[in-house]
Amino acid sequence: MKAAIITIGDEILLGQILDTNSQFIAREMTRLGAETVEMRSVGDSRAEILKALSATFQTADTVILTGGLGPTKDDITKSALAEFFHTTLEFHPQAYEWLTEMFAADPSRLNACNKTQALLPKTCVPLRNRKGTACGMWFEQGKKVVVSLPGVPFETAYLLPAQVVPRLKEKFTDLKLDYRVFTVYDMPEASLAMYLEDFESTLSTDIKLAYLPSEGFVRLRLTAKGSAVEQLDECARRLTQALKGVSFRPGEETPEDFCGRQLRESGKTFACAESCTGGHIAHLITAVAGASRYFLGGVVAYSNEVKINVLGVSADDLRTYGAVSEPVALQMAQGVRKLTGADYAVATTGIAGPDGGTADKPVGTVWIAVAGPGGAAAQKFLFSYTRERTIAKASVTALRWLARLAEKPAV
Ligand code: ATP
Repeated sequence: MKAAIITIGDEILLGQILDTNSQFIAREMTRLGAETVEMRSVGDSRAEILKALSATFQTADTVILTGGLGPTKDDITKSALAEFFHTTLEFHPQAYEWLTEMFAADPSRLNACNKTQALLPKTCVPLRNRKGTACGMWFEQGKKVVVSLPGVPFETAYLLPAQVVPRLKEKFTDLKLDYRVFTVYDMPEASLAMYLEDFESTLSTDIKLAYLPSEGFVRLRLTAKGSAVEQLDECARRLTQALKGVSFRPGEETPEDFCGRQLRESGKTFACAESCTGGHIAHLITAVAGASRYFLGGVVAYSNEVKINVLGVSADDLRTYGAVSEPVALQMAQGVRKLTGADYAVATTGIAGPDGGTADKPVGTVWIAVAGPGGAAAQKFLFSYTRERTIAKASVTALRWLARLAEKPAV
């Protein structure tokens, strides 16, 4: 089954809200085994709604719309749908009964404006919305389905699984789609694609391999449709073999999850001293539940004074080599390790930019150091990105180093 999504609302096109409904619906469609082929956002305009409906009705078996169902004047989805299905709005007693039940505790709150919400296109099946006053609507024309849901995200989040998905399962019996995810670390997308070229060439047309890159890792998603679902496990096994020699995990595991798991399994603790990453490493690691088992704490040592007074970095070395240097990174890592008593420590010091670069230390230069029971090591990186990305990249690089260390202690 092919699905299309239309989200309606001027506020989406004005950039005032993020269209979370599309993502939610697409995810639910994938779980159902349907393939979302299109997403569109249109303003509160009858002409635009009709145009989007006509186009998506051609390509998809099911079109799901959200928004514009309220009782206010700009909510025109119902009349646009009535026009599309060549019908009229009429009073639906069932929908009105649901409204009166909703206002049972205080019937005086059910005003004339709310009552108009029981006026729905004649040919629709109203879908009971227990989270709001606007009903959902289900239309069928031949083999095709159109569903209209409210714009309020939590109302759609209720209606879709409760009222729509069971009906779609009944109507479309060919729903079959499954996928497996792998997370690959330390290899850019382009290199990974070359690495997996041979594997990819063996895939049948109903099995697709998608590359989803993030900072410091790439997610691989193997998706099978229809009868190819039966071959998915065998295919995932072959992908595992093809990834031999690459650092990867089955499933979705971010570098901070991976690092946390390695530390947990090895029973080791860590601390961090952050200059250019400004606490981002601590933020990433503490976003993982259970981090208190391996993360002791961190120092955001942004100024030279904090580096000297809290971490014990040598003032002479700071003067001689500068804050972005190997000796300072090493001393920061050793300093925070001593301060906290952690097994391992990482430190970052660099120039995130956009200003502050020099000829020998351009913007993006970051020294990362690790310290452990066997000593300390530091490495210089050049992350030529925006400030935000340099901070993200340096943090993930530090976490990856830490994870490797927990796996195979080198310092
Ligand atoms: P109701 O009858 O409950 O008002 P409605 O169908 O009229 O629902 P809208 O008026 O279009 O819905 O939007 C209601 C709220 O939901 C608004 O705050 C809007 O910003 C938000 N909203 C609408 N569409 C989306 C969307 N696609 N993603 C996230 N939020 C949305």
